[in-house]
Amino acid sequence: MIIITQPHATETQLEHIIARIREFGLDAQVNRGASRVIIQVLGSVELAREKPLAAMPGVEAVVPVLKPYKLAAYEFRGGASSVPIGNVSVGRTERVTVISGPCSVESEEQILSIARTVKKAGASILRGGAFKPRTSPYSFQGLGEDGLRFLAQARERTGMPVITEIMDARDLPIIEKYADCLQVGARNMQNFSLLKEVGRSRLPVMLKRGFSATINDLLMSAEYILKEGNMNVLLCERGIRTFESAARYTLDLNAVPILKSRTHLPVVVDPTHGIGLREFVPQMSLAAVAAGADALMIEVHDSPELAKSDGEQALTPDIFEEMIPRLRAVAAAVGRQL
Ligand code: PEP
Ligand code: MN
Repeated sequence: MIIITQPHATETQLEHIIARIREFGLDAQVNRGASRVIIQVLGSVELAREKPLAAMPGVEAVVPVLKPYKLAAYEFRGGASSVPIGNVSVGRTERVTVISGPCSVESEEQILSIARTVKKAGASILRGGAFKPRTSPYSFQGLGEDGLRFLAQARERTGMPVITEIMDARDLPIIEKYADCLQVGARNMQNFSLLKEVGRSRLPVMLKRGFSATINDLLMSAEYILKEGNMNVLLCERGIRTFESAARYTLDLNAVPILKSRTHLPVVVDPTHGIGLREFVPQMSLAAVAAGADALMIEVHDSPELAKSDGEQALTPDIFEEMIPRLRAVAAAVGRQL
């Protein structure tokens, strides 16, 4: 059983809740997040204990433990949740959110110019990597703090909230200073110490599926973040490794309806990394919206041939602009808006 406290539960209320758990002959493990405390009740809990605990001051919800993931389970909320990223809310509302920008922040001018382009076309959140997880240590590793500063400047100029990848927990304070949402990349999906750290952040976290991870693995990783008290988690399908070598990865669109039936968390699809070939990114973006994605993450670069990372899969501004009305049409066909 898991007890979620209200965001402003007092220390005295917490002490009373823990005392009551102990009176029942059970033990409590307490996780303090930035906005609330999650108490895991250890020991075999009878259902009769649930109601008295749920009625205690300071308790928001008591969740029985049935699935291996609990806080991520659909039943936990009994509905879908929305995650605020700056002034944008991403979730299972009518609106499908478009997150866009370059793979890497390369300069102040580059990020600002791409931010303006994607915003004009219909994107509402800006992406850009400042710390890049590259296969080769000799490849461009990102601009680090300069990149974060350029992203924040682009936010000031365009009003778009920004999302950027965190690779190392030691960078959390500096990223928190500039960004509106943390991205945990595919390669770090099971970096459990990083997951725990971002779980203590006040910023929302978009967790990307590892390319060899199952849907269940992804949900268990999300649970690590939620358990620390950070309830603002988004899941992102970004392609998995299969025997198929014609594309960079295989975008697993099965994951979208399956995740939406298992979890209340918003589901994002990244068709750019999923197929890795510019010419096919628009089709897979349309397919992702048809499958029920709550948001899309799409890389755009104004000169892809000069991009410092992932140029071969970045859309040009023209292709991006041309795709948006088609995305709107598909969204409308499945009862949503863009
Ligand atoms: C990215 O979004 O640029 C990225 C590196 O993604 P992934 O972790 O999915 O490879
Ligand atoms: Mn990329």
